Amino acid sequence: TVSIALFTQDLRLHDNPVLHAARAAADRVVPLFVLDPAVEGAGFAAPNRLAFLADCLADLDASLRRIGSRLVVRRGEPAEQTARVAAEAGAATVHVAAGVSAFAHRREERLREVFGDRLHVHDASLTVVPAGRITPAGRDHYAVFTPYHRAWQRTPRRNVLAAPRTLDTPDGIGGESLQPTGPLSPALPPGGESAARRRWRRWDVDAYARVHDDLAADATSRLSPYLHFGCLSATELVERALRRDGEGAQAFVRQLAWRDFHRQVLAARPDAAHRDYRDRDDHWHRDEREAEAWRQGRTGYPIVDAGMRQLAEEGWMHNRARLLTASFLAKSLYLDWRIGAAHFLSLLVDGDVADNQLNWQWVAGTGTDTRPNRVLNPLRQADRYDPDGAYVRRWVPELAHLPGPAVHRPWLHGADYPAPLIAPDALTERFHRGRGLD
Ligand code: FAD
Repeated sequence: TVSIALFTQDLRLHDNPVLHAARAAADRVVPLFVLDPAVEGAGFAAPNRLAFLADCLADLDASLRRIGSRLVVRRGEPAEQTARVAAEAGAATVHVAAGVSAFAHRREERLREVFGDRLHVHDASLTVVPAGRITPAGRDHYAVFTPYHRAWQRTPRRNVLAAPRTLDTPDGIGGESLQPTGPLSPALPPGGESAARRRWRRWDVDAYARVHDDLAADATSRLSPYLHFGCLSATELVERALRRDGEGAQAFVRQLAWRDFHRQVLAARPDAAHRDYRDRDDHWHRDEREAEAWRQGRTGYPIVDAGMRQLAEEGWMHNRARLLTASFLAKSLYLDWRIGAAHFLSLLVDGDVADNQLNWQWVAGTGTDTRPNRVLNPLRQADRYDPDGAYVRRWVPELAHLPGPAVHRPWLHGADYPAPLIAPDALTERFHRGRGLD
């Protein structure tokens, strides 16, 4: 008998429920990945992510070959391509992870139409707690993180699964390879499960609680792209972190609960990817010149500009910088959060429809923040999270001559630098005026 393990955002051998089930169901398994042109057409497949994905697929193929198998890559509509491979291989069943986006829901529906009850959807693959598994009384999802987190911590986790040591795959099933094109950020991380596991082994979770907000220390895990593509299982990471049992591990695991939280929101409200989760009747300001200065990292606020330049260079940005650059766009410039979210998605290697769109909505006050009117003042953020100015000097070299925290206020030191797009004393004003709160 033959089964198909259809890989999606679970590009790994370790702790992979889909692969495990496909293997238990048949003597031979076809590991399949289908690249859907609709994803590219929807503008979601940014070059940075496609390059990372190509690494992930190559690494997965190499790991599969070591255990006697290989990865089959096809391009086209996923249900149609899977049906073709099933016919070629004589496969009886198809196994796939449950996704949370509107796109994943449609893919699953199409697969269901083609395969009926020969399709097996596994819901504990992409998250620690499956979306929809825990709900507050009378609602289909949690809208507030804190009660979600409490329930999440009490929910039993499935066992971590070992990577298979052997895998038999039928011969003669042809595939293609993925050739990414387009301009790439110069300093992208390498993709794939092997790189992910190396990164985890070398990273110090114990210090996390103390240093995760320190911009210059750059001491967060940087596992987000690997989690996005499923090169690592969030369940395995939680198990491994909790074995350390310290403040750092607890804080890290809490961030993984945020990841699940956003997925259960999106699964219940797929349109929150584009529409305000909470309708706040906002009338965003429109100013393409300001939006472009923000994208280019030339707002005149070095802390904001440093974050935007890190994004362009690495396809990644520190969480604290994401928060303050997003707040600057949505609450100081008062531009539509969708403009900022689209720019992030065009560059982030970890760019994720759940995490990006819902974090943006959180910052913009249209999402799940219980204090939607909070405004992060970039100067106070700079003083608190980059007190010595080292993060700014790293990313804004034209200000590297300004010592210590002076780098955060170049206008006071006669530096040759763009004037602030909005005066320092008016930073939070436009937002409140826009909302009629002042
Ligand atoms: P760590 O601090 O080491 O955290 C470990 C893991 O926890 C992360 O890899 C991530 O999977 C998860 N995590 C941490 N914070 C969050 C959070 N706030 N929400 C959801 N999961 C979280 N994260 C993405 O993975 N993809 C995105 O597209 C994305 N867009 C964002 C946009 C904005 C405006 C903001 C404010 C945050 C966004 N985040 C996004 C969340 C967070 O910034 C990144 O997950 C984090 O910076 C990744 O770095 P790390 O792996 O070193 O994180």
